[in-house]
Amino acid sequence: MIDFCVLGSGVAGSTIANLLSKKYSVHVFDKARGPGGRSSNKRFKNNLSFDHGVQYISPKSKPFIKYVHKLHKNKILKSWDDNHLDFTFEKKPVSTKYIGRKANNDLVKYNLKNIKQSFASPIEKIDFKKYFWEITLKNKSKYQFKSLIITCPFPQLKKLAKNYLNKNILKLKVQMQPNITVMLALKNQKTLPISSIKFNDDILAWAANENSKKRFKSNINLWTLQATLKWSKKTINKYKNDKSIMSQLITRFIKLTGFKKNKIIFKKIHGWKYSYNYEKTPYLSIWNKKINLGVCGDWLSGPKVENAWISANDLARKIR
Ligand SMILES: Cc1cc2nc3c(=O)[nH]c(=O)nc-3n(C[C@H](O)[C@H](O)[C@H](O)COP(=O)(O)OP(=O)(O)OC[C@H]3O[C@@H](n4cnc5c(N)ncnc54)[C@H](O)[C@@H]3O)c2cc1C
Repeated sequence: MIDFCVLGSGVAGSTIANLLSKKYSVHVFDKARGPGGRSSNKRFKNNLSFDHGVQYISPKSKPFIKYVHKLHKNKILKSWDDNHLDFTFEKKPVSTKYIGRKANNDLVKYNLKNIKQSFASPIEKIDFKKYFWEITLKNKSKYQFKSLIITCPFPQLKKLAKNYLNKNILKLKVQMQPNITVMLALKNQKTLPISSIKFNDDILAWAANENSKKRFKSNINLWTLQATLKWSKKTINKYKNDKSIMSQLITRFIKLTGFKKNKIIFKKIHGWKYSYNYEKTPYLSIWNKKINLGVCGDWLSGPKVENAWISANDLARKIR
């Protein structure tokens, strides 16, 4: 029997899987078709590639700085330089922005190398059978493991594992905030010497110039747009049926940048229902050794990749 089942192939899932794999056998399951979770990359045909989740990593804590520097040295990450415009004029210290060399899920791919992985495999049910865990996928196939680690956002965790979490965990007030993202391609536009733009606007918060990441050569301009929190909250439950939501965000981008609307050759909207938790819980990770159940993820301590990585490292320490 395999030692650990890890639910989720995002930063937390891939990090804990990597750490545990040094000593144990591990199998990672993800409901998505590829690795990365909220740090995944969307690639459409004709080389249209967008980092539609995580934009960049700016490490703050010493251990994470060390880890990011190692990945930089190993050519997994690179710095994202040039012009990052900020029209909010927030006084934030300027720190290096790191991105994946090929895509922003490079970090998780690196972590998952040589680890057993199953994608398009949503775990629908978990059962602790006294000495082992049995997981049931949506297609009704069943697998047994000695231990189970869950790394999905809190609302999904609560739904799946409510019978196995103690009251203090179930009572946590975790508010995962939404984000509306649009991926946009424009033909024959001049390549701008701009990497990203932070807008001072009520609808559009940020736009990333994918071409500025210098991963590929293209005469098509690729932009990833992110809506403001306020507007994302207003639209997250209706964007799938209401086509005007994507149009409104694009129109605002066109108005603020001066691009030509008739040059748009591709557009796609993605709604992230559980993007960030801005608050901290009292835990970095959770390990119940009586039933060999672990929980980690960014939402336990904050809204960033760094929080997911710290949480996974904390859990690995507890298990050891
Ligand atoms: C639009 C957006 C922009 C962001 N920008 C930044 C940024 O610039 N910098 C930064 O540091 N952070 C950013 N973040 C936050 C960052 O993405 C997260 O902090 C981090 O990726 C969380 O990793 P995680 O492993 O904890 O969770 P996730 O990445 O959410 O991983 C959980 C995984 O579990 C899988 N899953 C869920 N339920 C099941 C199930 N039942 N069965 C199987 N699999 C399941 C999911 O598919 C997912 O892959 C951004 C997030 C979003 C949404």
